Amino acid sequence: MSGPVNTVDAPTAADCSHPSAPCLEVSESREAQVGRIRVRRALPRKGRRMVGAWCFADHMGPADVTENSGLDVGPHPHIGLQTVTWLIDGEALHRDSLGSEQVIKPGELNLMTSGGAVSHAEEATGHYRGTLEGLQLWIALPESTRHGHAVFEHRADLPQAELGGAVATVLLGDFADQVSPARHDSPLVGVDLNLHDSCTVPLNPEWEYALVVMEGAIGLAGKPLPPGKLGYLGQGRSEIRLDIAGPTRALLLGGEPFEDPIVMWWNFVARNREEVDAAYASWANQDDRFGRVRSNLPLIPTKAPFWQPTRPPRQDRS
Ligand code: MN
Repeated sequence: MSGPVNTVDAPTAADCSHPSAPCLEVSESREAQVGRIRVRRALPRKGRRMVGAWCFADHMGPADVTENSGLDVGPHPHIGLQTVTWLIDGEALHRDSLGSEQVIKPGELNLMTSGGAVSHAEEATGHYRGTLEGLQLWIALPESTRHGHAVFEHRADLPQAELGGAVATVLLGDFADQVSPARHDSPLVGVDLNLHDSCTVPLNPEWEYALVVMEGAIGLAGKPLPPGKLGYLGQGRSEIRLDIAGPTRALLLGGEPFEDPIVMWWNFVARNREEVDAAYASWANQDDRFGRVRSNLPLIPTKAPFWQPTRPPRQDRS
């Protein structure tokens, strides 16, 4: 999915602290529109730009889709990141410039590693009609792989752990002795928590963590965390107690604090503006860098980065 990140979403690095002690910071998600679907953007937010290498988190839907209209996010480019797609309801079709064509359903993971360049589209499946709801997340790639080749993975075989109150599905990394087979390039974890009772969840005290609730609500030290917010937990915890009053679904994100200062603009995760300028120019000119996606949806255009000098609008000859 496309995540048009702008300066509202991505404040400067000065806003990005990694408290070394446990904390509970609750930030309000920002309502946005991606394709034709309403999303609640939990990351990046002012004051909380990343959690480990996780740098983007949209809770999309619930929305009604048909056989012919779904996310309807046309071809768009990415650099320097992995896209993680995780549905809790519905189906969507992923197509990319590697030639991948993959329907995703709840319980399955679509993971696209952009390396230096990839483009993709998210479409209706041609047969699913009903509700669509899920999460789209990005992970910033480390220096060692961010210029590498693009790769697409689909995982329908993710491991689960029973926590005595929750079924934990491990999307990425390892958690409660279960290891995801999906690729990750820096120390991190992503876990779907399907809670039917209050429980205690194991954490790595050297990592920072956050929770995004999709359904229900989680009580954290007596404070409720409902959908539409990010609950940032800081570092230094070996476990956390999650209290619930009814069935609850949440995503736990965690990882080693990501120390490289990143520049996020539109669909690009870079280290400086020159890299963004180059990626923007390649997409605007449709050169070969981002390949081609076999999609009937129109390419997503974008304006030039805000730091580029504005040119006078072209005079229409009429
Ligand atoms: Mn995308």
